[in-house]
Amino acid sequence: MTADAAKPGSVGEDGSLELRNVVFAGSNEVFNIRIEDGHIAAISPSGDAAEYLCIPPLADLHVHANRAFTRPELRPRGLEDAVRNVARVFDAFSEEDYRRHAGLLIGAAYRHGTTRIRTHADIDASLELEAVAGSLRAGEEWSDRVDVQVVAFAASNCDPATADGREVLRSAIRLGAHYLGAAPAFCADQAASIDGILDLALELSVPVDLHLDEHLDPRRCFSEYLASAVIERGLEGRVTLSHACAVSSLTKGDRSRVIDKLAEAEITVIALPRTNLYLQDAGEHTPTLRGIAPVREMVAAGIQVRLASDNVQDAFYPYGDADLLGVAMDGILAARLDEPRALVFAVCDGRHAFSEGDSVDMVLLPGTRFDDVLADLPAQRWLVRSGVVTRAGD
Ligand SMILES: [Zn+2]
Repeated sequence: MTADAAKPGSVGEDGSLELRNVVFAGSNEVFNIRIEDGHIAAISPSGDAAEYLCIPPLADLHVHANRAFTRPELRPRGLEDAVRNVARVFDAFSEEDYRRHAGLLIGAAYRHGTTRIRTHADIDASLELEAVAGSLRAGEEWSDRVDVQVVAFAASNCDPATADGREVLRSAIRLGAHYLGAAPAFCADQAASIDGILDLALELSVPVDLHLDEHLDPRRCFSEYLASAVIERGLEGRVTLSHACAVSSLTKGDRSRVIDKLAEAEITVIALPRTNLYLQDAGEHTPTLRGIAPVREMVAAGIQVRLASDNVQDAFYPYGDADLLGVAMDGILAARLDEPRALVFAVCDGRHAFSEGDSVDMVLLPGTRFDDVLADLPAQRWLVRSGVVTRAGD
């Protein structure tokens, strides 16, 4: 297929949509799919050569939209340095700036075929709720094309262990944020911050997505503490752990115990290969550590693992374009997560294939196999929604 390939699919007299010569990730079988009333009415063998890879909707479940495309001149020397650099960017930002940058990120992701985004909106003592309000407004503006969830993200200076910190998080949820989030490593007492945000999650009945263990020091690894705290409160299935890099630096026995505990707590782990490869083990030397969560062992233990973009052209990661296919490629390099179904699972929020009767949307990518698609990263991608084919970005 070429970049100017015709729109896939044909519409019958009865209004049904026929998609011909598609394959699913991890299989060489070629199918035709008939869609009626937004449901898959039939999947049948094609007999012809494959033309499109068909995957579920792409979901980028960890981004920082309100700071995307703000790349400062300074390259970060590490994570702490990036935190300082982004604070300088935010000094001059208004709610309107946050809205505009969040919109740029959502638009970039949508052009790559992503139709679901979870974004961490920065809250600290000086930002108040401007980034949350700006992110929510951007989400509303894109709501007919992209489902945007906003995390009230207590960044540095906002500690959920304190009454003030919890109150500003309460205000963010009242404003419309969908998740509670924090970065306990930047707080005085990580355990107290984890307890504080989980108690707030119970009080408000909202899910949690924490930045945790975004470092490689096994002595400061709090993933097991989080898992136990989740189980204590009966919050299984309601908590997401983003990063978990330090779990990779534990001894084999400790690592396996922590992974089992995370599985017991039904914690979803989001690995961020791009930012982790860039910032972990950074310094004057050439990095020798990959810095990513042990995702293969987590998948083997039954943990729901996702891959996401994290930072896009900002103080933390000055590159990237919110393309989840590129992130999947990073997952292969950083974590050797190279089984096609596992990769699609990780970038499509836990789905990889379709069955007759499904009332689902899909993405069509020009190519005959998943490996081809990753090699080409095709610019032209197609969305199928409610039985209608559109070009991603339109
Ligand atoms: Zn992040």
